[in-house]
Amino acid sequence: TGTIQVKDVSKVYPNGTVGLDHINLDITSGEFVVIVGLSGAGKSTLLRAINRLHDVTAGEILLDGADITKAKGSQLRVLRRNIAMIFQNFNLVKRASVARNVLAGRVGYYSTFKSTFGLFSKADKEKAAENLNKVNMLDKYYTRADELSGGQQQRVAIARAMMQSPTVVLADEPIASLDPKTTKMVMDDLQHLNRDLGMTVVVNLHSVPLAMAYATRIVGLRAGKLVYDKPIAEVNEHDFDD
Ligand code: ADP
Ligand code: ADP
Repeated sequence: TGTIQVKDVSKVYPNGTVGLDHINLDITSGEFVVIVGLSGAGKSTLLRAINRLHDVTAGEILLDGADITKAKGSQLRVLRRNIAMIFQNFNLVKRASVARNVLAGRVGYYSTFKSTFGLFSKADKEKAAENLNKVNMLDKYYTRADELSGGQQQRVAIARAMMQSPTVVLADEPIASLDPKTTKMVMDDLQHLNRDLGMTVVVNLHSVPLAMAYATRIVGLRAGKLVYDKPIAEVNEHDFDD
């Protein structure tokens, strides 16, 4: 589980901008794929399509064989439950504690988050603590999210993503606003999800050196087209010189 098949996917935004242009990409379970490309290349559009945060114009995207681009209602919810998304701006509820934020991943929707917090079981709270421990943030369990550094917030977002035991983790420029030290911590956390927990990880990054340090495969996008796709063993740093 955790395979993603992108089949001839195009996305044209309502204003006519081409976000994706006939993308084909087969991701096997357990891969750590880094998508590189300049700003505007279509990286974010692709991740949003995989998670069905928006619709595509043409083509299909299969998650373990099921087409998420056409799924509706409960089928869509079931498919989405297997996918965790990590954003550039962490998407934490700033005034809530770290624990509450992590437990919100159990629900997934912040609108229901406050009213349902009381319903979390002891087992859920233990799982939250366990996941926080995995990213070295257990000592911040009761700390408010807005009292954390950017890197710490992203690690909480990763602990939250782990709550739903996803098979696929998508991360859209997760280290964009972080310093080198916290960048390494966040990338190491993603590597842990991939190597030790067997999750398929797909990360959008600007940085080629970082991609080379972590990816098992690098995919390049340019102007909505897939222009590069190699396993890490075949990647040469000069491939990205232009
Ligand atoms: P969100 O507002 O949730 O980030 P959007 O799909 O509106 O989602 O925006 C995604 C990215 O595309 C953003 O970086 C945004 O700046 C950019 N964007 C949004 N609208 C347009 C547009 N009309 N033309 C070009 N780029 C846009
Ligand atoms: P990247 O993540 O690689 O920076 P994006 O996927 O955000 O690229 O954007 C791909 C293209 O789609 C860009 O030309 C961008 O301006 C455009 N775009 C993104 N979101 C929107 C939107 N909501 N409306 C119109 N155009 C958009």
